[in-house]
Amino acid sequence: MNTVVAVDGPAGTGKSSVSRGLARALGARYLDTGAMYRIVTLGVLRAGVPLDDPAAIAAVQVPLSVGHDPDEDRAYLGAEDVSAEIRGAAVTRAVSAVSAVPAVRARLVDLQRELAHAPGNVVVEGRDIGTVVLPEADVKIFLTASAETRARRRDDQNVAAGLPGDYEAVLADVRRRDHLDSTRAVSPLRAAEDALVVDTGEMTEQEVVAHLLELVRRHSGVKP
Ligand code: C5P
Repeated sequence: MNTVVAVDGPAGTGKSSVSRGLARALGARYLDTGAMYRIVTLGVLRAGVPLDDPAAIAAVQVPLSVGHDPDEDRAYLGAEDVSAEIRGAAVTRAVSAVSAVPAVRARLVDLQRELAHAPGNVVVEGRDIGTVVLPEADVKIFLTASAETRARRRDDQNVAAGLPGDYEAVLADVRRRDHLDSTRAVSPLRAAEDALVVDTGEMTEQEVVAHLLELVRRHSGVKP
């Protein structure tokens, strides 16, 4: 029997590293749905389509594929490896507008379901996996942390990457995006009613992975 684990939550909760760690520990495939929205966004930017024109965004055809290995970040637009480019500032700025277009979401949700249902255990990470994409997932996890904790983590990451630190500005941005994400009309960010909510604020990455492994063991047939 395949076990499907959904991991949702806002940015800055450690969602990506923790989901990869969990997939590694379970010997499961890892599906990063955020990377898929980022590839489509790159395709839209390259097509030169205005970001305030949802019909034009929906009309851009973006052939995309992503890797399934938790240890390798692989994202393709056609045959081109765009793994680095989709993490850049241009895509990050534009991705909210593109991912709010219903036709884009419908297309990606279909693809995400198809990929998640391939044979083998899988950890699927995103914003709407437990609520919309895979409501039948065996285990649904929703990661949280206070806006202050998430802003502190992101500011530390910026400084480590050689960018200027500005905690107050980062905190304002985190609050702005929380508001946009949780109030948007299509697939707003929220925990599924049967999700296991985990506050990562006071835990290290290793502690969160160990805790999630225990939750998966308790709530599914898997024996990690
Ligand atoms: O996870 P990541 O930050 O890479 O996701 C990039 C963006 O893609 C998010 O800010 C969100 O706007 C969008 N997204 C989404 N639904 C998902 C995954 C990501 O709307 N399941």
